[in-house]
Amino acid sequence: MVNIVLFGPPGAGKGTQSEYLIKKYQLTHISTGDLFRKHLKEGTPLGKLAQQYMDEGKLVPDQVVIDMVDDKIKNDGPVTGYIFDGFPRTVAQAEALDKLLTSKNTPIKCMIALEVSKEELVKRLLNRGITSGRADDQDETKINTRIQVYLDETLPVAKYYEKQGKFNPINGIGEVNSIFNSICSIIDK
Ligand code: ADP
Repeated sequence: MVNIVLFGPPGAGKGTQSEYLIKKYQLTHISTGDLFRKHLKEGTPLGKLAQQYMDEGKLVPDQVVIDMVDDKIKNDGPVTGYIFDGFPRTVAQAEALDKLLTSKNTPIKCMIALEVSKEELVKRLLNRGITSGRADDQDETKINTRIQVYLDETLPVAKYYEKQGKFNPINGIGEVNSIFNSICSIIDK
């Protein structure tokens, strides 16, 4: 079983790369952003709670996110591996994920961090906003909040994995395919 954390700021290309990685390595995708959007669409209480935070570009409280992931993993049948996308976003989430996976005897193999400059991120997110319909992609103030939240609350997660010897930074600017190849060479190491 291979578990991978795909890490990076909003707009770094995690969703795009996840799609290719899922196919190549038969991974089960856990994107907390997608899960929240699904709840939102279905009008569940969890979706309504998350919406307030998502609309402002802030993080949903840790325990809410952790319980949702916990629930998803516990209810999944046997899988060949997970790709975590947009999770963990705080050190508390990373610790909770380690606990959960240790109890399943299947640790994180590696964390891959897509690195993209702030200017490029803003450009990509505004561009995505034209077609995604996501309110948080259409407003530059919200985009800036998300990037700031990433720098303040999420970046420390990189150190967490670095201490475990699992941190692998990658240049997230360039051809989608060549970025994909760089990621694969880390996973196959
Ligand atoms: P992005 O494009 O910003 O990476 P996502 O689709 O991953 O977006 O997440 C959208 C929003 O959902 C975030 O801005 C945040 O409000 C919420 N969210 C997603 N994942 C998490 C998480 N692991 N912890 C807290 N909030 C989250």
